[in-house]
Amino acid sequence: MDYSKVFYEINKSLVSYVDHGAVASYIPELQKISPDKFGVYLCTVDGKNFGFGDSNEKFSIQSISKVLSLTMAFEIEQDTLWKRVGVEPSGNPFNSLVQLEYDAGIPRNPFINAGAIVIADVLVSKLENPREDFIEFVRQLSGNNQIDYCDRIAQSEKSKGHRNAALCNLMKSFGNIDNNIHEVIDFYFDLCSIEMTCSELARTFLFLANYGKDPINGNQIISSSKSKRINAVMQLCGLYDEAGEFSFKVGLPGKSGVGGGIVVVHPGKYSMVVWSPRLNKKGNSNKGMRFLEEFTSYTESSIF
Ligand code: GLN
Repeated sequence: MDYSKVFYEINKSLVSYVDHGAVASYIPELQKISPDKFGVYLCTVDGKNFGFGDSNEKFSIQSISKVLSLTMAFEIEQDTLWKRVGVEPSGNPFNSLVQLEYDAGIPRNPFINAGAIVIADVLVSKLENPREDFIEFVRQLSGNNQIDYCDRIAQSEKSKGHRNAALCNLMKSFGNIDNNIHEVIDFYFDLCSIEMTCSELARTFLFLANYGKDPINGNQIISSSKSKRINAVMQLCGLYDEAGEFSFKVGLPGKSGVGGGIVVVHPGKYSMVVWSPRLNKKGNSNKGMRFLEEFTSYTESSIF
């Protein structure tokens, strides 16, 4: 299928679409992004690539990195990981503290902030040089050794990171954080600060569209079983308290970030990234969701 033509047609059909969303402002540096940026990129598992708009411009991937940190931690810890973090949708905002108290410091899933902070703690415990080892893993997945953290964004988030610090402290009080909370939270902010383009991100996620194996170089990144499970968690938890709506409208495993990116994978077919910085109230890209809804309808490629 000529996906470039599809992108063009969908974009044309959305010319009168008015996006009432707003760029994330609770991380001061993110507010500087031009709100009307728009990029799309799709990589097929058989090596075809299609881009549209600002697909070669770097943006802050934010929570999308939570899938990559989960991949690494799952490979290290195997199923013992699930003693410290669940796989259930939270039905609450990504940075909520409420449920964590009831659940005795065990986050509902690895994609809400609390869960990703536990994953960061696992990596701090198990990696020799967490910051270096993690970015090396992302570089390997992306086939691009220029991928990096953005210290400016990490520092900006840290300056306003009281809520994430509260989550980390609460979990520490329940015994679900092993390391020094400052070390864990700094690493978490670093993970969120990675910058990539739509094309780099789509390439990075191809292994999840191909049962754990990178189809370009043949590397088995994780087992097929783990890949299916990560996709299952994305399907149910990747868009936080809008995961149901996203499944209903788009019908693919996906992960969003407050930088305005959304990654989706269609196992056996493609990985795809949409970037549009205006967010809805749940912290997900407004136009990104709309575009993906049109895309899976047009191409009849929801997994259902
Ligand atoms: N760094 C952001 C935070 O911790 C990530 C949130 C997101 O992208 N949903 O709040």
